[in-house]
Amino acid sequence: MASEFDLIQHYFNRPSQHTQLGIGDDAALISLSAGMELAVSTDMLVSGVHFFHDADARQLGWKSLAVNLSDMAAMGAQPKWTTLAIALPQADESWVAQFSEGFFACAKRYQVDLIGGDTACGPLTISVQIMGEVAPGKALKRSGAKAKDDIWVSGTLGGAAIALAAMQGRFELSEVELNACASSLNTPQPRVELGLMLQSFASSAIDISDGLVADLGHILERSAVGANIRLGDVPIHKVVSTHLRDSKVQTMALAGGDDYELCFTAAQQHHVEISRLSSLLAIPLTCIGSINIERELVVIGLDNEVMDIGKAGYDHFKS
Ligand code: ADP
Ligand code: MG
Repeated sequence: MASEFDLIQHYFNRPSQHTQLGIGDDAALISLSAGMELAVSTDMLVSGVHFFHDADARQLGWKSLAVNLSDMAAMGAQPKWTTLAIALPQADESWVAQFSEGFFACAKRYQVDLIGGDTACGPLTISVQIMGEVAPGKALKRSGAKAKDDIWVSGTLGGAAIALAAMQGRFELSEVELNACASSLNTPQPRVELGLMLQSFASSAIDISDGLVADLGHILERSAVGANIRLGDVPIHKVVSTHLRDSKVQTMALAGGDDYELCFTAAQQHHVEISRLSSLLAIPLTCIGSINIERELVVIGLDNEVMDIGKAGYDHFKS
């Protein structure tokens, strides 16, 4: 069986693009571009909590980096470096090989260097740190939303939640339908280019990891504002939209996590430029409502009723 050092050397040590000293020493060395700020974030994936014990290793490799890149996207930062701490129940070389393939496919697509990490024996847990650059004062914070701003969402929502529900036997989907939404759950596409381009337009931004209502809620709280949105305007995954009269499915669209789209606010004057950005990047960008000063989130349902959303969203410590 390969030793820990052989595994790291063979599967995680790849040439880097913007790193002075990468894997192999006691610490990595990096230089920030002149005048830039360092954006840093960490996200952990725990077996049995964030993914099934028997999840596909390649997809898990992709997703563990992608969810971190999504945080860079939400900050409007350019991701550059990542570290990977992983606990493995055993040194299963073929699992590590596939995991590394998925991880580096994502690293290559978004041009980030894996510059270090840690490897231990234990229940399967993957903790990734991401580091990126952003010009001072340009980061997209949660706190900048202003009354009358439009609220926008990228891509479509609910695909990951309905795929998960189908896989857990909580909702019935045909095989064709499941295939059409499984990639939202397993191989999310972080909106890094969009985040960078939004620097000039957005007043606030967040990535939707815990569900639209919960994550928009974070913007509202940090910005001390409220919002009105309409379910009928929320861009919804095509599989989800065919079942949208089912209230369970409406909850998936509004409160389902794991889509990793961006929710952002922008002054109305930017409406046309943002629509143009959508065609330029070939990413749907949809205005779903607007910010107000009421300090609450009102969701208008399909029949023009005010929906009862309660404390929607995914909360790890919910009883
Ligand atoms: P230390 O004993 O100083 O913690 P390690 O033996 O854990 O060093 O790691 C040796 C080198 O391999 C370091 O550069 C570390 O960053 C890197 N490394 C260890 N595990 C991983 C991993 N899972 N992914 C990437 N790099 C790793
Ligand atoms: Mg170590």
